[in-house]
Amino acid sequence: MADGCRSLVREVSDAGRGFRAIPSVDVVAQTIARLAPEVPARMAVRAAQAEIETVRAAVSRGDAAAAPDAIAEAGALRARLVLADAPGPVINATGVIIHTNLGRAPLSERALAAVRAAAGGYSDLEFDLTTGRRGSRSSHISDVVREVTGAGAALVLNNNAAAVFLALEAHARGREVLVARGESIEIGGGFRIPDILQASGARLRDVGTTNRTRVEDYARAVTDATAAIMRVHPSNFAQVGFTESPDARALAGLARECGLLLITDLGSGALLDTAAYGLAREPLIGEALEDGADLVTFSGDKLLGGPQAGVIVGSADVVERIARRPMARALRPDKMTIAGLRATLGHYLRGEAVEEVPVWQMIACGLDELRSRAERVMDGGTGLRVVDSSAAVGGGSLPGQVLPSVAIEIADAEAGAEDAARRLRRFARPVVGRIRADRLRLDMRTVLPRDEGPLREALQAL
Ligand SMILES: *Cc1c(COP(=O)(O)O)cnc(C)c1O
Repeated sequence: MADGCRSLVREVSDAGRGFRAIPSVDVVAQTIARLAPEVPARMAVRAAQAEIETVRAAVSRGDAAAAPDAIAEAGALRARLVLADAPGPVINATGVIIHTNLGRAPLSERALAAVRAAAGGYSDLEFDLTTGRRGSRSSHISDVVREVTGAGAALVLNNNAAAVFLALEAHARGREVLVARGESIEIGGGFRIPDILQASGARLRDVGTTNRTRVEDYARAVTDATAAIMRVHPSNFAQVGFTESPDARALAGLARECGLLLITDLGSGALLDTAAYGLAREPLIGEALEDGADLVTFSGDKLLGGPQAGVIVGSADVVERIARRPMARALRPDKMTIAGLRATLGHYLRGEAVEEVPVWQMIACGLDELRSRAERVMDGGTGLRVVDSSAAVGGGSLPGQVLPSVAIEIADAEAGAEDAARRLRRFARPVVGRIRADRLRLDMRTVLPRDEGPLREALQAL
């Protein structure tokens, strides 16, 4: 036998020993049932199979088989994770207020109660209590959106991606839409303007250049096939230097002159002025309408501070055409969204948004307040200190803008910041912080007041 063959035979028999060391599905499933009695028998078997599959793959790669107990423990954990409620609450100490990976905007107490009430029983979702007949699901929310934004009509959908899609599908299917090259952007999570346009059946016509686009660029691109001009707020990046974008009113004038629709995707959109808090100005929804946009779209769970939703506002005929499209039914919001959004908008109507909507509480919170909250959370603990920090609004609004903030820094030199971060993520109420210059920081601006207690306990246990 050639040497190469001999060593191959030896390897194969080593692997054979490795495979023989793997316990049977039955044995692992029984151990899982003992370790995690709450796991139903069928799930224990499936978890055992999955873990054994993983071990077999490891052995095929030449690794040693894990010990039977370790395999069962991994299986028990796997089954428990499937049974657990998820997504579960985490403490956001990243300093990013609208954190898409952490679920964007937390709801106000009142919005939470409204969602609970709508979801936990029957409601007048599509029932008119005055006439006792069928009512309209959308009127509950459209009336309030119109009231807050001053728009002629409103339509609420599942998210802003759906809003942009449906606006285009209703008004530009089979025709052209003019988009500035600098606004043909990707938002993240698969939302790309050219792709959404294509999916809606509209054709994209690029105008201008990446950094500079003028009204004349749009004017030159108009043909008989043009249906609309679309503006997209560059919500997750900033261009600096030699840039130019057209004046909103002048562009609206061109659209009117040529009989085109002007659609503005604001992304976040705001009902309150972020400039009042030392930030740049995120475009206001009312302003976009005043500047002459026929349709304005924005998210419910960014600066608005409500549940995931997409909102379209504009004049009645333009919005109604969208509402009548068959896809509007497929993209409509559920009762929890409607209840939560309506309660959130109620805070704006009553002029109490900064006091009641968590996103705005966080934006508005003063440094002294943040400092005393940090002291309260540290509770004299050792290895911790208060440091100046900087927070961000995040979530596709105000890119590059920072809010001065206060953080608790963990001086965990021994094990390292990564290790401290990992341990904090493992608590019953996981804590997500941010590592800066090899130190773990917990930014107080994004820690909700009700999370202060659990955070204090986590730091004590650390
Ligand atoms: C965030 C964003 C979207 C997508 O909104 P969703 O509500 O997440 O679907 C679309 N356009 C812009 C400009 C955005 O910033």
